[in-house]
Parts: sequence; C-alpha cells; structure tokens
Amino acid sequence: MNSIAIRTRALALLKKFYGYDRFRPGQSEVIEAVASGRDALVLMPTGGGKSLCYQIPALMAEGCAVIVSPLIALMEDQTAALVANGIPAAAIHSNRPESENRDIVQAAFDGKIKLLYISPERLLSDLDLWVSRMPVSLFAVDEAHCISQWGHDFRPTYTQLNVIKKRFPDTPMLALTATADRLTRDDIAAQLGLRDPLRWTGSFARPNLSLRVVQGASKKDRVAAVRALVRKYPNDSGIVYTLSRAGAEDMHKAMSEAGIRSAVYHAGMDARERNAAQRAFTDGNVQVICATVAFGMGIDKSNIRWVVHNNLPGNIESYYQEIGRAGRDGLPAETVLFYSFQDVIRRKKFIEESGRPQVDTEKLEQMQRYAEGNVCRRRVLLNYFGEEAPADCGNCDVCLHPPVRFDGTVLAQKAASAVVRTDGRVGIFMLTDILRGSARADLRREGFDTIRTYGAGRDVPAFKWNNYIVQMIQMGLLDVAYDESNHLKVTPMGWRVLRGEMPVMLAEPELPEAKEKKSARKTPETPTDPVLQLFEHLKGVRKTVAARSGVPAYLVFSDATLLDMARRHPLTYEDFTDVSGVGERKAARYGRKFIAAIRKFDGLSASMPEGSTYKATLLLHNAGLALGEIAETRGLKTETVLNHIARLIDEDMISDFSRYLTRKAFDEICAGVAPDAPVPSDLRDKYSSGTIAVALAARRFNSRRNG
Ligand code: ADP
Ligand code: ZN
Repeated sequence: MNSIAIRTRALALLKKFYGYDRFRPGQSEVIEAVASGRDALVLMPTGGGKSLCYQIPALMAEGCAVIVSPLIALMEDQTAALVANGIPAAAIHSNRPESENRDIVQAAFDGKIKLLYISPERLLSDLDLWVSRMPVSLFAVDEAHCISQWGHDFRPTYTQLNVIKKRFPDTPMLALTATADRLTRDDIAAQLGLRDPLRWTGSFARPNLSLRVVQGASKKDRVAAVRALVRKYPNDSGIVYTLSRAGAEDMHKAMSEAGIRSAVYHAGMDARERNAAQRAFTDGNVQVICATVAFGMGIDKSNIRWVVHNNLPGNIESYYQEIGRAGRDGLPAETVLFYSFQDVIRRKKFIEESGRPQVDTEKLEQMQRYAEGNVCRRRVLLNYFGEEAPADCGNCDVCLHPPVRFDGTVLAQKAASAVVRTDGRVGIFMLTDILRGSARADLRREGFDTIRTYGAGRDVPAFKWNNYIVQMIQMGLLDVAYDESNHLKVTPMGWRVLRGEMPVMLAEPELPEAKEKKSARKTPETPTDPVLQLFEHLKGVRKTVAARSGVPAYLVFSDATLLDMARRHPLTYEDFTDVSGVGERKAARYGRKFIAAIRKFDGLSASMPEGSTYKATLLLHNAGLALGEIAETRGLKTETVLNHIARLIDEDMISDFSRYLTRKAFDEICAGVAPDAPVPSDLRDKYSSGTIAVALAARRFNSRRNG
C-alpha cells in the first residue's frame, strides 16, 4: 500500500471501530511507518493516544499483533476496551487458568485474534515455540522505559526482550513510553535492537491539566481541599496519592468521616480487595480512591477529574505520569501537590536504602525544585522532558498567583542567627518554634528559650516561617545535615546574610487553602447551560446502562464522548454515529438507550421517527448483529426488522441476507410466488410476512444483479 492508501484505510478503521474523525498528532505518522514495515519509538504523554499507534496497524495487517505489557490490569483494560469496540483481542497472563491461556494462544495461531497482550516473562518463555507458528503482524513493547537502567522504573526481565528482534527480524516493532528523557530514549532503541526507527516525541503539554502546589497545609486543609474537589465534580472521581500504606488508610478514614464515598488501595491488600477497590473506582461507585503509587498503571479511566498528591513524589517522571491520569479525555482537570519538607527527608531515607542513591537523589532534588519553584510549573515540567516552553502557561498556581516578593533580609537574619545560637542542633520545626517563642517542654529543656532570637518572630505565623526556612534552604543560605538528624547549618552564603553583606528576597507564601474554604461553602449549582445539563443527564444514563450491561461506565462512553453527544444532541441513529467516540459496535449496542434519553430530555417521544428507523437497522446489520439482536437492541418486533431488511435490499444497501433467510425458505417462497402475483395462503401459513418480504426482495436483488 502506498502512503495515501494507508492513511485512507487507517482513517476508515478509526471511524468504524473507535468512532473518531481524525488522528491526534503523531498517530498517523507512526501508523504509516509501522504499516509499511518500519520500527518506531513513540514517546507520548499518558493519555496522548499511544494505543492506537499499534492497534490500527494491527487491524490493517494479516496475523496477530503481540503487545508486551508489564501489568495484568493494564492488559485487561485494554482488551476490554478493544472487545467493547468489536475487535478480537485477548490477554494471556499468570492470573488466568493455564488451559485458558493455551486456548488463547491456539486461537492466535489460527488467526482468530488481532491483538494479543502478554507479559514479558510469558513472551520470553513462549517465543521459541512461536517462531514457526504465530503469524505475528507486529510487536509492541508498552512501558518501554522499563528496559532502561536510566529510567525510573527499571525491570530486569525487560532487558531480555532483545531476543524478539533476533527471532523475528523482519517483523516491525514499536516501543512506547510516556516517560523517558533523551538518554533513556536512546537506550530503549539500542536495547530492543530497533532498526532505524521512526522516532515520534509527542508534546507533553497537556494544557487541560491545571497544576498547583500547596506548601505547609495541615491535614485539615488537605481534607478540605479534597472535599472541595469532590463537591466541584459531584459525578466524577479523583485519586489521592499518599506515600505510605498507613497514609492511604488514614486519608480514607478522613474521607469516610467527611461523608465522602471512598476506597483505599495499596500493595498491602490482597488481590481480591485491590480488585474490588479498583472496580469501585472505575465503575464510579466511589468518588475518591486513596492509594499508594501501586495504583493506577492499568487505569484507563478517561474521566478522572482530579489528582491530589498528599506527599511529594520521588521524581518528576512518576509525578507526571500520576497527574497524567486525570483528564485523559482532554477536558479540564485539576491537580494539587501538597508539599512539605518532611517528605523530602522521608524520601531521602528511602533512597539511602535503595540500590542506586545517586540517580535517585538527583531525581528527588529535581522534584523538590519543581515543588519549591517560583516559575511557571508547566515550563519546569516541559523543560524537564526536553520540550521548549517559551511562554507561561496561565493554568498553574504560579501563573495564576505570581508570588509577591519582599525584602526578607531581617527575617532571614533572625532565622540564621537562631541556628547559630543553637549550635546547629535544630531542624525546621524546632527552629520555627524558637522563633515563635513556643513553650514546648523539650525546647525549654535544651535552654533554647534563653537565646536572643527566642520569640523574635512571634508576629509571623508558623506556616510562613516553615516556608521561609525552606526558601532559605533552597537559596543555599541554610543546609540540611541529613546525616545529623536533619539539623540545619548556616552556609558561607548564610553567614554573608548574617553579616549584612547580602540582601534576601523572599516570596510570600499563599495562605493555605483560603480560597478553597471560600468555594467549599458554596453548594454546587446545577448548571444553567443546557448542554451541561444534558451532559450531566447523560452521565446518569451511562451509569444505568453500564450497570445493566455489567461493564464499567467508562467502557460504555468516555466523558469526552458524552459531552460531544450533549453538544450535538442526536435524535436519530445517523446523527448518533457522528458523535466522536461512537464506533459501529457501540452505536449498535447503546444507541437506542441514549437517543431515547435525549429525546425524552427534549420533551419528545422516546421512539424515533420512521424514516431514520430502517437506516438504524442497516447500522446494526453492518455491525454483524443477528436478527434477534437487532430486534432486541432496537426494541422492535422481528417482523418490523425483517421489513426494514427487505426495504434495504431493494435499495441496494444490503447484499448479504443469509442471516435472515435459509436457503430452503428462499427456494420455497420463490417457487411458490410468481412475480407480481399475490402470496398463496399455504406459504403465508408457513412463513411470516417479514420472511416472505425478504425472500422476494432477495429475488429482485438477484435478478437486478444477473439481468
Ligand atoms: P495512552 O496509552 O497514550 O496513555 P490512550 O491510547 O489510552 O493513551 O488514549 C487516551 C484516550 O484518548 C483514550 O480514551 C482514547 O480513546 C482517546 N483517543 C486516542 N486517540 C484519539 C483520537 N484520534 N481522537 C479522539 N480520541 C482519541
Ligand atoms: Zn504556568
């Protein structure tokens, strides 16, 4: 196929199976490369649309695409989404009985599966067996950064995947990842043995995600902030990430006490409990999931409206990936990172025990700089991923509330002086208490209440002192001795400040969550915009439909699709198929219910006008449904459907009618009814009028074709 033919075919498949009208940046380039046999290295942010880069070439090619994926949940979600769109896909992994795995492999050998997801371990053990038997159309290695020592999530088994190219040298291979700096990227290509791959690096901008960092928030502030988000998005859900299992449990408890439907998820739970929690979340039965980073890699839920980090992530890659789970449908979503310096200290302890302190420390410091920074946060992120960010984004807390800076020389001198006078035996919190003149017993026992700067900063609230001290550390005026109980030391530059040789500009910290509290008091309003009203209404319909069909709501339609549906508000099947995200299979399966809901919402009768109705039958016919299924889906009698089919045959819209008519019935009816003559009564007793109509239409069709 030449490149125009590939593009045309790819677009047709995109519309048919996924219901989308156009490709996102990079998708068609990658698809074209892979479909013409070339390798590819795809770097796109989470939600960027990586899956289609291999799914469409898989649909275009003979044989079965093999996708290596590290996580069972991820495989299950992907195959469920594919099957929901009418594409034969399956996953083999260790959570499935071995006999089923074997059946699936056999089906793939027989060419009955278009996409097969598999874990790296399993692939490596099966690969030799496959060489002569598996008709592999392409290999895709998902989460490909796991292959690199330079990545943040190195997995040793991934390094053995280099054998794939040795066994299948002529099969195209894609490596896909959401997180990789340049070093990691080159490493991926080299390790997998990609040959002159097309390299596509997508934009990491994700402008729909707002970015916010809040320093020094108390637990109460944090809970209030999450509550505010829950109220703001009453029909959607979000994730609270915590560092520890205990932290997740704790947050969960606070949520439940606040009357919020919440679930907890961490690696300390057994698989059954974890699955139940994940299910409750994906089905929309809980508004909040309080989780450690164990949660999320496999979550393909497009309507997560917010992500809160209760603790500082260990590196920017993880942070970016975690916030990237919000707003995958492209609609506005919010992220909040609660930052406290204590988290840095906790993380440093972890790192000391980890195997590669240097890489990890550096990555943590970059994360810390991001959280403490006073420049547009998106610019910091984009810079990190090597992308140019020439302008402020306007959708982060720094852009929205540029910090007010003031001459903080005197404050800095007070703090540094207290550090000197305590012989460098205090950490951030003790220092704050000294400056604020606290009567803490341990403070008095040490005699810190007798130094000159004791109480010298009484007029400054504690959260501000914490913040100023962190800024001083960040500016290099104070140093944290991690090896000495995190005590503070005055650096040479700090001494210059003390001696009055250097001024200090400090940024005024925002009062934690003052705004949040204001907005939290307002009860959520019902939207006045009719499109948003319908959108909310359709979410309710989706929930009912999902529950009745026993699938998670997001597998029915994404929020982006519901919003487009609300905008277009389709009243007929044809209009319904124009909605972005409505492929043939889903139109057939869910169309009637959603159209009826929209018609009712408009105050119309739920049933569709005649005229559009037999074309709706055509759609279901094209989607491969059987007669009974069409009748059931449309809520019509089978007789009516058969009359539609007859009409469609007469209009040359259908040429395969074997589904509606046996050969014997066709022959008998044709033999018994002369052209343009009435149907004899013995035939009318034997066959329904619908069947007779189809048979006669089929006869006319055949004579048109032959004559
Ligand atoms: P990734 O794997 O890069 O995180 P996905 O492949 O899961 O992202 O895609 C994220 C979301 O975007 C999915 O809901 C998907 O259906 C949607 N999507 C992908 N490509 C398109 C497109 N061309 N048009 C509209 N939506 C798309
Ligand atoms: Zn910004």
